[in-house]
Amino acid sequence: MSDLPLLTWALVLAALVLGILAGHFGWGKRWPGSLSKLHPDYLTGLDYLVTEQPDRALDMFLKLMDTNADTVETHFALGSLYRRRGEVERAIRIHQNLLAREELAPEHREQALLALAQDYLRAGVLDRAEGLFQQVSEVPRLRVSALDALRGVYERQHDWQQALGTYRQLARIKAAPAATVAAHYSCELAILALDKGEIDNASRLLRDAQAEATPFPRAALLRAQIAEREGQIDLAARLLRQALTESPTLLQEELPHLLKLVGPAQRDTILNELVAQAELHDFGELKRLVFAAIAADLATAAPLRASIEKVFSQDPTLQAVWNEGPAQSERIAREIGALLAHAEKYRCNECGFSGRSFYWHCPACHAWDSFEAYAIVKLR
Ligand SMILES: [Zn+2]
Repeated sequence: MSDLPLLTWALVLAALVLGILAGHFGWGKRWPGSLSKLHPDYLTGLDYLVTEQPDRALDMFLKLMDTNADTVETHFALGSLYRRRGEVERAIRIHQNLLAREELAPEHREQALLALAQDYLRAGVLDRAEGLFQQVSEVPRLRVSALDALRGVYERQHDWQQALGTYRQLARIKAAPAATVAAHYSCELAILALDKGEIDNASRLLRDAQAEATPFPRAALLRAQIAEREGQIDLAARLLRQALTESPTLLQEELPHLLKLVGPAQRDTILNELVAQAELHDFGELKRLVFAAIAADLATAAPLRASIEKVFSQDPTLQAVWNEGPAQSERIAREIGALLAHAEKYRCNECGFSGRSFYWHCPACHAWDSFEAYAIVKLR
């Protein structure tokens, strides 16, 4: 997939080739009077570009660049463009070509190592990327970029301990991302501990997560799971209620679970509480609750009747359907429920990735806490 439209790419490449030429002939010198004075390798390179043989063209341009020590910046620009286009092998060749130069200045060598590490990361060769980022993180000037990239490598490897360690290194130089990121690492470690049956260790890690960021609904959710496993149902319900208060986006996933925990006798009490809570916030929150309830087949539950009517009659999109006759509200609710069952219910607000499952960590762009309830946004 290309990040740049083809025309833009061609123009940028042409500009770079001119840059190489300028370097080749010397900045500030007189421009050659005619094309016949151009270096034959340049013309051959252009031929290869025209005949769509990009690897041969790249060979030629690299050879041209080798003959001139002033083209380092052009190397970096070209390498970065190739990486952005997803042509990572070419980016790697360019940066390796730079590193092979014996006369390369130390700051350019460090920059080239960082660029090569980014190429490997983009190519998914994580172990090589890791080694190079570690090496570059020793350079004070590049330390923040290298450590932050290294944190990303550990996230992709699901090496949460190392990710947390790198986060702490960044925190020491005041360059760490939001505290919730560290809290998520502790939650990931708690999940691993739970899988191994290490309940005490998991509980300690969740306390760490909540000490790191408050409120932190994911930790409350995991503590609810532990309480349920231990048979402490009241505590589990309380913690789940807390998680839903802190993050109403979780309603679609967790409302049925909460109602199951409290049992039929407590159902209406809980629903009344959730309605009262949503009413305290904005209309969007009431809508979120109504849709979660409809998806959970609760359209006829007494505590929700007034809220469903309110949402249906006041929402600009649903109003038209509602005006067909409020008597049809149950049928409309059922139809919406059927739609929701197969809809993509969540979307990443960073990259637009959407799906039916909720993620704390976007599988596409690796942002944390970026998922929102999508179907509701779409119907708004
Ligand atoms: Zn995303």
